[in-house]
Amino acid sequence: MKKLTYLSLFLLLFLGCKDEKNTTNSDQNSSKESVNIDAPASEKINEFAIVIHGGAGTILKKNMTPEDEAAYTEKLEEAIRVGYEILKNGGTSLDAVEKTVNVLENSPLFNAGKGAVFTNEGKNELDASIMDGKTLNAGASASTTTVKNPINLARAVMENSPHVMLSGKGAEQFAKEQGLELVDPSYFYTESRFKALQKVKAAEENEATRDKAAFYDPTIKDSKFGTVGCVALDKDGNLAAGTSTGGMTNKRWGRIGDAPIIGAGTYANNATCAVSSTGWGEYFIRAMVAHDISALMDYKGLTLQEAAREVIQKKVPDLGGDGGIVAVDKNGNMVMEFNTEGMYRASIDASGNLNIGIYKD
Ligand code: ASP
Repeated sequence: MKKLTYLSLFLLLFLGCKDEKNTTNSDQNSSKESVNIDAPASEKINEFAIVIHGGAGTILKKNMTPEDEAAYTEKLEEAIRVGYEILKNGGTSLDAVEKTVNVLENSPLFNAGKGAVFTNEGKNELDASIMDGKTLNAGASASTTTVKNPINLARAVMENSPHVMLSGKGAEQFAKEQGLELVDPSYFYTESRFKALQKVKAAEENEATRDKAAFYDPTIKDSKFGTVGCVALDKDGNLAAGTSTGGMTNKRWGRIGDAPIIGAGTYANNATCAVSSTGWGEYFIRAMVAHDISALMDYKGLTLQEAAREVIQKKVPDLGGDGGIVAVDKNGNMVMEFNTEGMYRASIDASGNLNIGIYKD
């Protein structure tokens, strides 16, 4: 009798476990979202949403004056409110991304458009890209020197050319044909960025700091960051992402970073998320940061937060790189993840809650 009771107990337990396993498996197969218990990705938490960054790096409170802080905070708010109004009024995520990035590009505070950093030759060569999550169409431009707003050029490449990426003189010719605003290269001159170039060059001339200074001295490294980016979800459920930059101070040989590379600096897919990156571009290209985050959600069922953490806190630093991302998923979950001391950033949800940040804590 005792034996029989043990046997039935064992059978009950065994069948119970088996059932549990089957449920988990079938859940995984039928709906990726159900895997996440902490933040159910299947729930729409925002009908629309927008997140921006103005670059990541060694941004420490002790190095910022209250005036600097106020200037950055005000510009971030001005920019994100432009996109927010577009989304609130039923506009597209692509329009919100482009117009928001324009505000940041037109400000000398950020390393994009007007405030672009200098190349080794003392020039400003700008990169940008944009992606439409609905169609997976994308456009990018690299190494332009006369296009006032490279994000507009990236969008024109996406919408009005059979190509995804144009560069240099050809890209400028296309911009002219598209009627985009062109400027004299001197438009991009700012004293602070020019001084940053001199600082890096001086470090290079010094034998003791030559090899490492440009990349490891935090004060010099700071001058390399400041890219801008925006991701948005609109009321129709369409995601878009865009990124614009001057690249890294003292870059040479026609160096192109991650910002104009679809999958590295920018990625958007209505099935998963929209991502814009900022950081040490070489590593972001090698880690395919933006696409990797989307792929982790798509193939492994991770939430946006989990996927972003995996790539930014593990994959990129394991390679030796640093930086961050802003992202929004198809349900309006917003993420701002970085492994540096700071990242200029802001987000607004569908209820109008504004969140602006600069430092880590
Ligand atoms: N990612 C950019 C680049 O490598 C730099 C930055 O984000 O500031 O060109």
